[in-house]
Amino acid sequence: MYQANSERYSKMVYNRVGQSGLKVSALSLGLWHNFGSVDDFENQKQIIHAAFDSGITYFDLANNYGPVPGSAEENFGRIMANDMKAYRDEMIISSKAGYLMWPGPYGEWGSKKNIIASADQSLQRLGLDYVDIFYTHRPDPDTPVEETARALNQLVVEGKALYIGISNYNGQQTEAIAKVFEKLGTPFVISQPRYNMFNRGAESDLFPVLKKLGKAAVGYSSLSQGLLTDKYLNGVPADSRAKKSTSPFLSPVQVDETVATVKKLNEVANRRDQSLAEMALAWNLREPEVASVLIGASRPEQIADNVAALNNLAFSDEELKEIDQILGQ
Ligand code: NDP
Repeated sequence: MYQANSERYSKMVYNRVGQSGLKVSALSLGLWHNFGSVDDFENQKQIIHAAFDSGITYFDLANNYGPVPGSAEENFGRIMANDMKAYRDEMIISSKAGYLMWPGPYGEWGSKKNIIASADQSLQRLGLDYVDIFYTHRPDPDTPVEETARALNQLVVEGKALYIGISNYNGQQTEAIAKVFEKLGTPFVISQPRYNMFNRGAESDLFPVLKKLGKAAVGYSSLSQGLLTDKYLNGVPADSRAKKSTSPFLSPVQVDETVATVKKLNEVANRRDQSLAEMALAWNLREPEVASVLIGASRPEQIADNVAALNNLAFSDEELKEIDQILGQ
């Protein structure tokens, strides 16, 4: 029977989400990869336990995470029911709707039809009465923003979600939907953009808008799917995401394209007495709008490596300048 580490809250940092009452752990765990029906269930359990034991309270899911789509929610639901039930009120659990989940015209995007049905399916798979944050996974160019916002608001009114988030919305799209949420009184608190050293678009576009609105970001792919770690310094390991056929979004080509830069970043990290993963996460957290950095993990040890980022979050101006230079900024 799983017993959570009694020291779990002593090392983690908890950041307020914008001007809301919600706090999230500075590191959060995403279940996009490694939690599908193709993955080892025992390992999944160990990763969730390691995360919770190290003070991570925020667990990020979506309807389509797997493969097969939906299986990450089912597996997480099993873990919750079997050995995390007692800790439900210590956890922030999210899901999302927007990417293709079932065939036909209602299985994706931001219509009321999709969002309401998808949220109900997710709760069923998760075995939960509500999620803490429900996200629209991507902006829908064809559905009126009022419809998407009202559907999300309805989830809150019905008690199926406590807070609302948006993901992959740029600054302008964020302002547009925030206006509707404001009118409806929706607890819209958080935005989930891709944010890491190799993907800095949010700095000039989204973060200024979030600052103005008093909202926060939780950045995803914080390690650029593993590229911003030391794992690819000497080639592509057989058990890495870049090699797995179930991970079509990272390939050895991207490793080749980035390895020279990664080697230089690794030298800076070594001088700071940090692993590259630690430095990359600390660097993401230097942005005031970033309340949490979402990481993935294929094994429990990676959780411990990544949480150690909190041991050194400070950067000198010289270090920041050097990193910018390496990144070609
Ligand atoms: P990361 O950039 O953190 O990549 C995670 C992968 O990097 C791991 O699976 C592992 O891969 C490797 N890794 C992690 N830590 C270490 C370490 N210390 N040393 C060496 N390798 C390490 O995040 P993800 O791309 O997985 O994204 C995180 C979460 O963000 C997702 O699970 C999801 O919740 C969310 N997300 C949201 C999206 C959206 O559209 N809203 C899109 C994408 C992600 P390996 O298998 O090689 O060991």
